[in-house]
Amino acid sequence: MDNHTVIVIGAGASGMMAAIQATRYGAGVTLLEGNDHPGRKLGATGNGRCNFTNLVQRPDCYRSSDPGFPAAALSAFTVQDTIAFFTDLGIYTVNKDGYMYPRSMQAQSMIQALTMELASLRVKVKTREKVTQITRNENGFTVQTQGWQYHADKVILAAGSNASAIQGSGRDGYDLARSLGHHVIEPVPALTGLRCRGMSFASWAGVRTQAVVTVQIDGREAARESGEVQLTEYGVSGIPVFCVSRFASVALREKKNVQVYLDFFPDLTLPQLRCFLEKRREKWPQRPVRDLLTGLFPDRLCQVLAKEKDPAKSVKTFTLEVTGTQDFSHAQVCAGGVDTRQVDPESMESLVCSGLYLCGEVLDVDGTCGGYNLQWAWSSGAAAGKHAALCPQ
Ligand SMILES: Cc1cc2nc3c(=O)[nH]c(=O)nc-3n(C[C@H](O)[C@H](O)[C@H](O)COP(=O)(O)OP(=O)(O)OC[C@H]3O[C@@H](n4cnc5c(N)ncnc54)[C@H](O)[C@@H]3O)c2cc1C
Repeated sequence: MDNHTVIVIGAGASGMMAAIQATRYGAGVTLLEGNDHPGRKLGATGNGRCNFTNLVQRPDCYRSSDPGFPAAALSAFTVQDTIAFFTDLGIYTVNKDGYMYPRSMQAQSMIQALTMELASLRVKVKTREKVTQITRNENGFTVQTQGWQYHADKVILAAGSNASAIQGSGRDGYDLARSLGHHVIEPVPALTGLRCRGMSFASWAGVRTQAVVTVQIDGREAARESGEVQLTEYGVSGIPVFCVSRFASVALREKKNVQVYLDFFPDLTLPQLRCFLEKRREKWPQRPVRDLLTGLFPDRLCQVLAKEKDPAKSVKTFTLEVTGTQDFSHAQVCAGGVDTRQVDPESMESLVCSGLYLCGEVLDVDGTCGGYNLQWAWSSGAAAGKHAALCPQ
């Protein structure tokens, strides 16, 4: 077996996985990280608890302009492989309705387990090393940081995306990929709240309620999700909104018309709801509409719905025009990134710059809520690490 030298750029989830796998497959690995610690974003995942994967896997949990792309890496390094990998590193995993966490419920444990493994494999981890340039030359690559130059046979670009306000989240990964000939699909915020036009939202800000959220793009349903919606001063947020937000975000980038429909009472059809409210009306003919809605929704939502021309219809299809999303600093991931049509789906090697591998969120792959973005980081990182170590130059 050839002993390649590999530089991994970015000690996030996918970069640490790639560095471990490349070393296990025989490469000499240097891991360069711009921050002073590895895994900053990983430490914030799952509200600090790290929902690191999910037992329920469906192709539509992963989204890309090239929808078939994620499958090969996800089936080469599966959820079961992920659980076995972390168990082997000392993480006792727990299953919460399919959502997997470390039993400590601390994302820091995941960072510790990964960094201890990097240390025991003697990976050279260099922090405060922000990469500014990658140059392909005859014998491999030169990687320039702010203070040093590194050389290696292979490079793995795992610099993540510009989602979130966490230090280290930026556009470097896209810029470095672009400088080596890649096309980058303009990233937009995903897993985030939706800004809407249509009413004064101050009256409902702070309300949390169960609802079905449907996104329509140019009049056609694009995505639907149910769960606890948070009504905010700018529009709507909460897990189901996060899950559908990337469709709205991508459509807005393409200047399409985006609407969101909220069904605040999915248990009843519109005729059933009308009948139910009619019975209340017969019983309490003097009461205002707001009082007839009492007990169905939080009071402030009752006030908003009662002002609508047809309250029953508004309960079932409360319609909002989406004008934008929350910005990148409030997004958990980005939709967009390096165009995967320029990347081999099995090895993660670039098709336009041989010897360069890409993994994680820098690629145009985003997952829905529930551990899917980290599963993508683990699977794509494992593929990049293994192939960078094994493939001939
Ligand atoms: C608040 C929040 C909660 C989340 N919760 C979950 C969750 O529970 N489950 C889930 O599956 N996903 C979750 N995600 C998404 C998940 O964290 C990311 O998809 C995942 O971390 C992406 O991994 P990555 O390796 O591609 O990027 P990152 O983990 O962001 O790592 C990239 C690394 O590259 C470094 N870097 C960048 N540029 C340079 C440079 N020029 N030189 C050197 N280093 C550089 C960065 O500092 C960073 O350490 C969450 C995200 C956020 C923001």
